[in-house]
Amino acid sequence: MLPTPPPPTLRLDIDRDALAANWRTLNDLSGTARAGAAVKADCYGLGVARCVPTLRDAGARDFFVAHWSEVGAMLDHVPASQVAVLHGANSADEVSYALATGALPVINSLHQARLWTAAGGKACHVMIDSGIHRLGIDPSELDDPALAGLDIQVLMSHLACADENSAMNAAQLTVFKDMQNALGAQSLSLANSAGIALGTDYAFDLTRPGLALYGGIPRAELAGRIRQVAFPRAALIQVRDLKEGDTVGYNGEFTASGPMRVGTVSLGYADGFLRSWGGKGNALNSEGRALPLLGKVSMDMVVVDLANAPDLKTGDWVDVPYDLPKASKRSGLSQYELLTILGQRFAR
Ligand SMILES: *Cc1c(COP(=O)(O)O)cnc(C)c1O
Repeated sequence: MLPTPPPPTLRLDIDRDALAANWRTLNDLSGTARAGAAVKADCYGLGVARCVPTLRDAGARDFFVAHWSEVGAMLDHVPASQVAVLHGANSADEVSYALATGALPVINSLHQARLWTAAGGKACHVMIDSGIHRLGIDPSELDDPALAGLDIQVLMSHLACADENSAMNAAQLTVFKDMQNALGAQSLSLANSAGIALGTDYAFDLTRPGLALYGGIPRAELAGRIRQVAFPRAALIQVRDLKEGDTVGYNGEFTASGPMRVGTVSLGYADGFLRSWGGKGNALNSEGRALPLLGKVSMDMVVVDLANAPDLKTGDWVDVPYDLPKASKRSGLSQYELLTILGQRFAR
């Protein structure tokens, strides 16, 4: 048997108090509606095992994943009846997995409705397309007999432009209101994180925040109310001195203009720290002083300038600034991308 591996050189610290506080804030902002939680993509990359028990203990009862492959990990923490699969069941295999586990499909098409009814499927959710034109039943199809026998718990739709002040928001709200009674669903759900910030008109019975739970701020109304949850940290794995004219990294993009001390950090594009950070990013020492990135991001490493932290040595940790709105502006990556690309080598 192999010995236990040594401690990792990458850590993703999750502030569970902030996660719980974000859920409570979003639940409060949802007015009389209850807030659920979008936990697809392994809780946006932060880890189901860390995040789902925290969300459950804070009070969340409605959890949304995208794939059937994501159901198993959820069942360690919450009952299957609280797990919804947003892509729905498109094949006999997916339908029988739904029936065997008890997780609920979000029915997105007449085809899915027919499969579910034919298999004797009971409770389900239904997604209506009110304008995003991605997944969902078209409002013109609501009279179809395929939808007649469904036992619909949540009738939902999804906003396309909630993070903008777009006329699309009110238009989708109108479409959704117009068909809210069409199928006799128990409850109604429209808003994602940004939709919650649009006001309680958009909340109905259940909201489905994802991004903002994990520290993302899709609209200014949420600034100052949502706390950072994900804190990536990386170890210095070498410290060295450069002399004037030395270059750093692939293609020698940085040239030292004089003697300087630099550190090699165990963090690269394979960990989700993409090359778009080159020339823009920095690490921080424990006092929050910036250690600018030098040259290109490699697959497993970046090199930083240690002028602001002359005492740092091999084995010390640096913080990777991950305030999501700021990091998004700087890197050109969306707040969603910044979370979901954090790689498997981070100890979560
Ligand atoms: C991902 C998703 C959400 C959560 O959206 P955020 O913008 O992350 O809050 C809600 N509803 C559906 C249907 C989704 O796919």
